[in-house]
Order: sequence, then structure tokens, then C-alpha cells
Amino acid sequence: MPVSLERRASAISTDSSRVSDSNSGLSQWPRRPITGLARRKLSDVPELPDVVAYVAALEPRVVGKKLERVRLGSPFLLRSIEPPVAQAEGRRVTGVRRLGKRIVFGLDNNIYIVIHLMIAGRLHWKARGAKLAGRMALAAFDFETGTLLLTEASSKKRASLHLVRGEAGLSELDRGGLEVLEADLAAFRAALARENHTVKRALTDPRLFSGIGNAYSDEILHRARLSPAKWTSRLTDEETERLYRSARETLETWAARFVAEAAKAFPEKVTAFREGMAVHGRYGKPCPVCGSPVQRIVYAENEANYCAVCQTEGKLLADRALSQLLRGDWPRTLEELEDRKAADRRMKG
Ligand SMILES: [Zn+2]
Repeated sequence: MPVSLERRASAISTDSSRVSDSNSGLSQWPRRPITGLARRKLSDVPELPDVVAYVAALEPRVVGKKLERVRLGSPFLLRSIEPPVAQAEGRRVTGVRRLGKRIVFGLDNNIYIVIHLMIAGRLHWKARGAKLAGRMALAAFDFETGTLLLTEASSKKRASLHLVRGEAGLSELDRGGLEVLEADLAAFRAALARENHTVKRALTDPRLFSGIGNAYSDEILHRARLSPAKWTSRLTDEETERLYRSARETLETWAARFVAEAAKAFPEKVTAFREGMAVHGRYGKPCPVCGSPVQRIVYAENEANYCAVCQTEGKLLADRALSQLLRGDWPRTLEELEDRKAADRRMKG
């Protein structure tokens, strides 16, 4: 029963939300991960650094080359009707690029092939004509130079394929989020200010920011020493700037590392849990900065991770307000968590 175990975890936290000195906060903590809490099966979508690495690996293999054939292994993968797949066949690839968390192939007849890997979708570079076998295999793209296999290791088939015509068709798939690596501080500030959300949710909203999901938002917030539950309307100028720099440094550092790896071999081990991450997927393990155990907020199929010492002034996010909410059901999504916190604030006037 994960829910009761979670409640046990939250019961350990102090109900004092005003911890003046972080040591007194620390004394309330479990020293080790709470026993009996089995590692949750977490699920994350490949984000900007992963997609950038796929693009870097694909460019030298397919740009200027002919896409000879597209073989579909699943009837659910293709989500568009027009233009038909046949119109992509026999065309030359003019470019590969990232659109949010999607991978886009441009063809010489102005058709774009757009792949969203979702959680379990992965790409594999194989010898030309590789077999499309097994339930995991969703599609094969046969280029002159080799075959790109799209697989999805999950019974839930969520990965998607769209074919669209022209930049206009492509822009319909663009969620509109800001490209943080191309944006200046003013644009970043404006994107954050567009709606009032917890900063965790703002960073992962594809309408506000492009290519950032659960994993890298955890890392960005840790680097920025900011609480995931902080409301964007309450960020000071200094905090916003820190968040901006952290977002750029985090995305740049990881993307550079994966692109360097992709130059050696096609990325076959794409995962949201990477050696060297500070907090993401590291619940109960020591924070690399201060050594305190990494904490978590659980929601839906996933969790957000943070360090209470580095990010929340020693407070567990199951503070008084949150504990009240947690006596009910756990929020299924961060959005729901926010709604409840907002309702809670309204009740208190
Ligand atoms: Zn820390």
C-alpha cells in the first residue's frame, strides 16, 4: 500500500514550518531512506539534452540521404492522415532538428516527419533493412545508410509519429515554450511571469518552456537552490536570475556531455536517471552538495526530488499546509497539488 507508507513518511516530518536553523530541521529527518518504501517505478520522457543527442547522432547518418521506406509495426503510432507516409518515401533528408521534446526530419518535398518518444520510446541505429520484430518495435525508417528503429518498451503505447506539410504544419505541433538556451534573461523572466505556478510546474510546462521535463527541472532547481514548490509570482529578481543561469548551465552541461557521447556511438542508453545527477531519481541518497538525504514529492506515476537543506531552508515540503493536503489523497499531478495548495490558501484568506 504505497499510500499508507507515504503517510508514514510524511508523519515523520515536523509540522513546524518555521525552522529557523537548518540543524533543528535535520534532526527530524530519517537518517536513512524509510525502510519498506520500495523504489517506485519512475517514468520520464527524454528531454532537451537527450533529444539534442539523438539529433546530433542522426545528422551525419541521414542528412542528404534518401529515406527509402517507412515500415510501421503498430497501428497506433501514426497520428496524422495527411500527408500519407508514401509521400515521405524516396525523398532526401534536408535536416534533423528538435522541436520541444520531439525529433523532426525535414524532407526535400517540404514534408516533415515528427517523432515524440514519450516515456518509453527509443531510437536505435541498425544495419539497413533491419527486421521490425516484436511488440516493442513500432516503426522502421530505412535510409540508404541504415535503418532507424523506433521501439517502445511499455504496454502503454504513447510514442507518436506525425507527418506534416511545411513549416505551417510543423508549427501546429509546437507547444510554444521558450528555448531557454536561446533566450535572454528578460524573455525567461517574461515566460515565468505569464502564469502563476509552482516553479516546478512552470519549468515543465511545454507551453512556457521547451524541452524541460521532470528530470532536468529537478536538477535545475537544485542548482538554483530553489524550492520546487515556490510560486513563480514570489520569485525575487535575484532568484529569477539564478534560475535562468541554472537552467542554461544544467541543459548545456548535460547536452554537451551527451553530444560528445553521441559522436562516438549512437545513443542507446537514453534514460532520465543519469550518473552524476544531483537529486533526480536519488530519493534517500546524499545530496552531492551538503550530504543530506534527497527528498521527494510524489505524484501520479512520478516524483519530484529535492534537497531540503540546499533548496527549502531545511523544511520538508510536507510542511503544515502540505501535510493537511496529504491527509486526503495524494495529488495525482503537480497541477492538482497546486490547485489544492491554492484552495488551501484561499480558505485561510
Ligand atoms: Zn543539499
